[in-house]
Amino acid sequence: MHDCIFCKIIAGELPSKKLYEDDRVLAFYDIHPAAPVHFLVVPKAHIVSAAELNHETESVVGHMFTVIARVTKALGISDYRVCNNCGEGAGQVVFHLHFHVLSGAPFRQKCLL
Ligand code: 5GP
Ligand code: ZN
Repeated sequence: MHDCIFCKIIAGELPSKKLYEDDRVLAFYDIHPAAPVHFLVVPKAHIVSAAELNHETESVVGHMFTVIARVTKALGISDYRVCNNCGEGAGQVVFHLHFHVLSGAPFRQKCLL
């Protein structure tokens, strides 16, 4: 087991407010929301960041966007922003690939996180 907070959430060792789960992906609400709706989508496989993706792992990214489409529809959201922070200098704090999905804020600025 990696010493990784998202791996622990995936394993059920830490609690989370889950929105969707299947064999490849988990979606759950962010603990510190930056918008009225703010959830995270993570692959169950421990991939450190977007920079670590390769031909073997790339298909999970398409699946993550399909999950985002499904979850946002279920929440009744039609307008949302998907963000990924890749690397410490870009604000990545948890080194397990994740997409932020944000909605309900006035998206005047280019980035909320
Ligand atoms: P990053 O800055 O790495 O792109 O984003 C990490 C995100 O994970 C942050 O928005 C932070 O609030 C969220 N986060 C960190 N720890 C936890 C946790 O234990 N549970 C949940 N639900 N979110 C977390
Ligand atoms: Zn992990």
